[in-house]
Amino acid sequence: MTTEEIIQKTDSIRKENYLNEPPIDVYELAKNNGLDIVEIDFPAAQNQIAGFVTIKDGANKLYVNLSDSPNRRNFTVAHELGHWILHRDELETNPNRSVLFRIAIGKLNTDPLERQANIFAANLLVPLELLEKYRDKETIDQLAARFGVSKDVIGYRLELLEKGDDVRPEKAPEA
Ligand SMILES: [Zn+2]
Repeated sequence: MTTEEIIQKTDSIRKENYLNEPPIDVYELAKNNGLDIVEIDFPAAQNQIAGFVTIKDGANKLYVNLSDSPNRRNFTVAHELGHWILHRDELETNPNRSVLFRIAIGKLNTDPLERQANIFAANLLVPLELLEKYRDKETIDQLAARFGVSKDVIGYRLELLEKGDDVRPEKAPEA
């Protein structure tokens, strides 16, 4: 799936759900897509994991690491929802993929499915057309609060906007 196709997907999801202004309620979106969200502190050995999705006995669960900030948890939910929507077949047919997780923003991830989920999350939470509306009026702190994401995510998205035509969204969340 291309970046352009993922962006079109997130645009249509927002439109179908009348999500025209930030913050985009990804918790509600995940629930509407059949995922039960479970927020818990992960064991120490899994501290670096922000979240994952499981399919077990008909129960579809999205686990989120409660030790992360609310803004990070929003990104995690959006990322896992991306797996759920884009990679469901993979999730259902390949047992090795039955747990999909993500690691911290800022770590380079070369797995194509992880990149796709990050592109999905960034475009769902911070659509460039909405960011453009507010970027000249607000500080990065205010933008982060408005969109419900970390300042890092806002920073990456602003960079993309400033680059104009030379947009490479796949680098946004993880560069
Ligand atoms: Zn992932």
